[in-house]
Amino acid sequence: MALNIPEICALFEAKGGRMYSGEPVTQLEHALQSATLAETAGADAATITAALLHDLGHLLNDQGETPTARGIDDVHQYYALPFLRPLFSPAVLEPIRLHVDAKRYLCATQPGYYDALSADSKRSLALQGGVYSPEAAAEFIALPWAKRAVELRLWDEAAKKPGRATPAFTHFVPVMVSIALRA
Ligand code: FE
Repeated sequence: MALNIPEICALFEAKGGRMYSGEPVTQLEHALQSATLAETAGADAATITAALLHDLGHLLNDQGETPTARGIDDVHQYYALPFLRPLFSPAVLEPIRLHVDAKRYLCATQPGYYDALSADSKRSLALQGGVYSPEAAAEFIALPWAKRAVELRLWDEAAKKPGRATPAFTHFVPVMVSIALRA
């Protein structure tokens, strides 16, 4: 089940051209834009890697086109974890695991955040448990890595611009290699 870095590259090569459900970019473009936003913000290698791989679960768990429209939550934030756990530390895994709950947190705490979400993201939010109560939001942000997950979430939302220039996937391979726990 565990992936190595060449297998991650092969997965993006094979499936990265798919559209990112309900958004005007492909899975690969979304991953590259997320990682580029992290890199430009001065994030460390683990955070850039988390941004690059945060939606890997969508590529691993095939649910076809726009599963949210059929009421399906693909639980992609959890699905990728067993595949990545032997390869990366919690600094990569935890922001990925928490990036969906970070949306629930941002909707609860940032005025205008919910309204700015895409239709697909609003649909998936409902399937993912909806907006946090103030108590649940406070509990969430106290978790280790929650602030990192919120940062990731903001890049994630911004990484849906068709045609935005980014480095190629190969640019991020040495970044992943630099923090990988094994080859
Ligand atoms: Fe995403």
